[in-house]
Amino acid sequence: MRIIDNSALEVMASPVKCVFPKVHLALVNIAPEREAQLDELYPEFTLEYLDSHNWILGVTDDKRIQISSFVLEFLWATAYAHFVFYTKIFQGKQFSARTEVSLRDDPDVVAAMNLLQWAIQKLMNKDKSAWPDDLPKPQMIVGDTSDCGVADEFTLGAVACLLHHELAHIGLKHSGGSTIEIEKDADQESWEWIINNRRDFESSDLQKRFLLLVHAYSVGIIRDVHLGKTTMSTHPRSIDRLFKLMTHFGVPENHISQAYAFATIYLHLENSSNPLPIQGEAYDSFFSSFDEVIEHISKFPLLSKISD
Ligand SMILES: [Zn+2]
Repeated sequence: MRIIDNSALEVMASPVKCVFPKVHLALVNIAPEREAQLDELYPEFTLEYLDSHNWILGVTDDKRIQISSFVLEFLWATAYAHFVFYTKIFQGKQFSARTEVSLRDDPDVVAAMNLLQWAIQKLMNKDKSAWPDDLPKPQMIVGDTSDCGVADEFTLGAVACLLHHELAHIGLKHSGGSTIEIEKDADQESWEWIINNRRDFESSDLQKRFLLLVHAYSVGIIRDVHLGKTTMSTHPRSIDRLFKLMTHFGVPENHISQAYAFATIYLHLENSSNPLPIQGEAYDSFFSSFDEVIEHISKFPLLSKISD
């Protein structure tokens, strides 16, 4: 039987409280054509929601998939900031590294960047700061097409991608902790579930699935960029996972998911102490710009052990 343990919601103060009730539906909605198969393959697991300022996302040996409020906070804040940056600053421009962009002129962009900064600081410093009152927040209004509505959708979609990775651990009968090989297998299994043998890359439905996967897998890269190191202990490096996602399915050059991946990682690199090196000319495809950020981050020193 599938169980949802949502008792933590009773006392949850974070505005992501309103997102949690939709999380289990998101598991189906990422690939709705596979609903019956999902029930058949995974008849038994527990989704446990936790009220925590720490990033907690994983599966226990007794098939409890735990997800904390900070996971949703971080995914929502970054989704909002990335989307506002992409639509207001990036889209339609010929981008080369070190293009001058002002993030302080438009009040919507300013709010988005302030929210982003709050989320990054909370991730990096592991502090317990509450969602800032004066900044955009999830409301989960049905049919909302504003930037907040888009962030709601990105958050649920990315959560679904991450939960499918955890389900894949259950499906592949992994137990007793992570190894790089196990994590690669769970990645591939979950991606194949979501992409479901589709190759109609330009359909809006498949574009969306790739964008949601990019968002889900950008979290680890964001941390690496702000650390100035790439982490690899029990999991493959985050940049390698994202690169593998693109190459595994043969995503064509200039696909929107590559543009989005480049734009969002670029934003974090510019806000870090390791910006992209200066390049005079615009990139000739989104894949080449994406490839450039992957190359750049690949050169970060490797941090083989992470403290959490
Ligand atoms: Zn895993």
